Amino acid sequence: MKSVEAHSPHSGKKLKAPDAERLRADLEAYMTRRGLRSTEQRRVIIDTFFGTAEHITIDTLLREVRAVDARVGYATVYRTMKLLTESGVVQEHKFGDGFTRYELSDDDAHHDHLICMECGKITEFEEPAIEELQQKIAKRHGFQVRAHKHEMYGVCADCQAKARARR
Ligand SMILES: [Zn+2]
Ligand SMILES: [Zn+2]
Repeated sequence: MKSVEAHSPHSGKKLKAPDAERLRADLEAYMTRRGLRSTEQRRVIIDTFFGTAEHITIDTLLREVRAVDARVGYATVYRTMKLLTESGVVQEHKFGDGFTRYELSDDDAHHDHLICMECGKITEFEEPAIEELQQKIAKRHGFQVRAHKHEMYGVCADCQAKARARR
């Protein structure tokens, strides 16, 4: 059996990055299909989002958007992220800390998450064995999978070490 290897963006081992260029083209196509106009504020929000780190919250995104255009409000950012999520270009995550987080969603660069309940650190991992198993389960149920989220909640190695040091 292959061992499960956790990759974090900070460990030096990079996961396959989403294809931002293709996702942007997908988004344009979606907006054209739905007859949605690309307003100036919407463009600023989308540009800023594509330039940010993964798992960004609305509040953080709003702060970065306002650095570019101070007139943009929370509701506009919220609605734009809803639109991006509906288009399938962005995936919405609720990791149990009360914040909604967003990241680019690329089927070819899919990853899952380990969430530390102590410090909130989010570690990404990729495991073909899990993907394969999920497909098998879906097939058994005659189920067509469009997306899935696999989240593990617990305590990260750093927080475990800190807890040990306190003892
Ligand atoms: Zn932690
Ligand atoms: Zn992620």
